[in-house]
Amino acid sequence: MDVRAGSPAEHRPGVVVWPERTEDVAALVRWASERGVALVPFGAGSGVCGGVMPREDVVVVDLKRLERIRKLDATAPLVDVEAGHMGVPLEQALERAGFTLGHFPSSILCSTVGGWVAARSAGQCSGAYGKIEDMVASLECVTGRGDVVTLRRRTSAPDLVPLVVGSEGTMAIVTSATLRLHPRPASRGFGSWSFRSTQEAWEAMRAMFQAGLRPAVARVYDPFDAMLARQGSVKRREAASAKSARSGGWSGNALRGILRRPGALNALLGTRIAERAMGGAMLVVVFEGEGDATSRGVRDARRIVEASGGSWDGEAAARRWLAHRYSVSYRQAPVFAQGAFVDTMEVAATWSRLGALYDAVRAALGRNVFVMAHFSHAYPDGCCIYFSFAGGADPGLVRELGWDAACEATYDRTWKAALAAAVEAGGTLSHHHGVGRSKAPRLGAELGHGLDVVRSLMRAFDPAGILNPGNLVADGEKPSTPSHPSPATPGINVDRASLLASIVGTTRLDDAEQVLRAQGLTLDTSIPSPAPSLAEWLARGAPGARDRWLDPVDQLLAGLDATLKDGRAISIRPAPRRAVGPDLTSLFVGAGDRFGRVDRAWMRVHLLGATRPTAPAFACDRDPPLGAGERDLLDAISREGTGATPSAGRP
Ligand SMILES: Cc1cc2nc3c(=O)[nH]c(=O)nc-3n(C[C@H](O)[C@H](O)[C@H](O)COP(=O)(O)OP(=O)(O)OC[C@H]3O[C@@H](n4cnc5c(N)ncnc54)[C@H](O)[C@@H]3O)c2cc1C
Repeated sequence: MDVRAGSPAEHRPGVVVWPERTEDVAALVRWASERGVALVPFGAGSGVCGGVMPREDVVVVDLKRLERIRKLDATAPLVDVEAGHMGVPLEQALERAGFTLGHFPSSILCSTVGGWVAARSAGQCSGAYGKIEDMVASLECVTGRGDVVTLRRRTSAPDLVPLVVGSEGTMAIVTSATLRLHPRPASRGFGSWSFRSTQEAWEAMRAMFQAGLRPAVARVYDPFDAMLARQGSVKRREAASAKSARSGGWSGNALRGILRRPGALNALLGTRIAERAMGGAMLVVVFEGEGDATSRGVRDARRIVEASGGSWDGEAAARRWLAHRYSVSYRQAPVFAQGAFVDTMEVAATWSRLGALYDAVRAALGRNVFVMAHFSHAYPDGCCIYFSFAGGADPGLVRELGWDAACEATYDRTWKAALAAAVEAGGTLSHHHGVGRSKAPRLGAELGHGLDVVRSLMRAFDPAGILNPGNLVADGEKPSTPSHPSPATPGINVDRASLLASIVGTTRLDDAEQVLRAQGLTLDTSIPSPAPSLAEWLARGAPGARDRWLDPVDQLLAGLDATLKDGRAISIRPAPRRAVGPDLTSLFVGAGDRFGRVDRAWMRVHLLGATRPTAPAFACDRDPPLGAGERDLLDAISREGTGATPSAGRP
């Protein structure tokens, strides 16, 4: 919108540097920290939340010359790759060696490994391989102190990796990542179905994931989005439309006209008759794997989906989706050229809250903009909703502000309302785009006092506050009490739709298992003897629980309530995955009572007798010893008190 209004490049950096080695980054950080100069880590700039918005007094650290593949270990298998490596050449190199990372964000052409890690990215194949946080075995990074530290995933002692993943350049500069690989898939299986309603379609997707199916791609489209997808998604009229708009042509005027009454348009397209005329909602799946596993996957999916009300539409829509998998993301510019705006918003919730989240965010967006949605990242316990929306200036503001300023005001108002609705409905603000500067003012609404904990972590990693200041946590942003506190009921509450159980921390593990078994459910863990309380068990890193690498799509726990050492309570709402900064659960799981204790946890539960999916073998040390750098960081985090004082803004 700024470009259209003739005022681009307000965020010109003072200096751009291109380090080539980790030592260059460390030297630069030490230099900057001594002088209080702000550094903004930069991958490829594809982030969509304002995570990279430098000023003239800032040094941008472009990491794209840190691009070596340091090691490809074919036996583990894993790859150690530098942070500036771009997505496509990485995947091509891995495929040549017979592997895949399994990470295919729509921005794979224009994003880096470091950007994926920093923003908690999700790829199109998350249904089989998980999100980026499920792939990281270790990270090399340079903290704001200028120390080069290697952080390793581990279970029965503190794991600092989940704190840096999602830290969006505010705690450390990631210089390389060691990532789990899978064999390059030898075959694919395709399927698509139509449904009367969007909810029926997502319920079918839930049933698939809860039955243990792991289609690499599983996407539900609401009727309007489905209609576009059925047409093949890619419009080839952009150049002509943009030209017409620039010359004030009819299509620009028509679009503005249509977008003047988005509420009426949304209501019209939301009627049953319109939904039926558009062909209803659609589910597409793509299975990847070896031999006939993929055709078996499609056969099993058909059994489940068709029992849930889906009508089999054959393979064509899924094959078409694959052929155009990256095209869809590049259709936005013509809409801006026509004087309107378009954007996307991704949120997530447990299955039990998904309907409420969908309705609330759709209603909040729909007051100002035309909105459609698809659901492209599913898990056994919940799902992500991806809204696409287009709007123009609110007619009431145009006379006073002019078109461009009115457009911007409408855009801001739309985002504010939608983010508030997401938090209120019990969802997470982001599943994979991250927070950046644009969502930072709402972070306190989701994290409550967790916001202070994030600030403490920033101070521990970066005492001088030089790394991407103003990103992720807004200056002056205050925690607000989350509107979805834990249920007051004691004991064990089962959320059957999401296969989650909220269990009070003092409950003995064997007692919890007994209660769950009576309901046909299980924690599916061997229970240590003597049986510890749930809180103790989590503090010890959940010994006996199934190895997390066996099913990267599943997780052990979805959220928790905890009390910090200083007596403050924090609440991490249950979500299938989230991208709202560091994963604070890692301060409690495997970390003993160093930072506090778990009062209640949302544990994943499994149907008794269910078969659980098993990914190809992955041989890496599950419990590597703590390194000296990790120990120093743990001490620094303890010293910062993880939220002991509600801090002022960072320097
Ligand atoms: C067309 C399009 C499609 C997209 N599709 C997807 C998608 O499917 N899935 C998805 O998850 N996202 C998607 N995105 C968002 C974006 O691509 C991701 O957030 C991506 O992970 C950003 O990577 P980048 O290298 O471009 O990072 P940048 O945009 O350069 O940076 C993003 C943030 O990470 C920080 N950062 C970058 N590198 C480092 C580093 N080495 N160390 C520390 N901090 C660092 C930056 O400071 C910034 O805060 C899409 C974006 C576009 C434009």
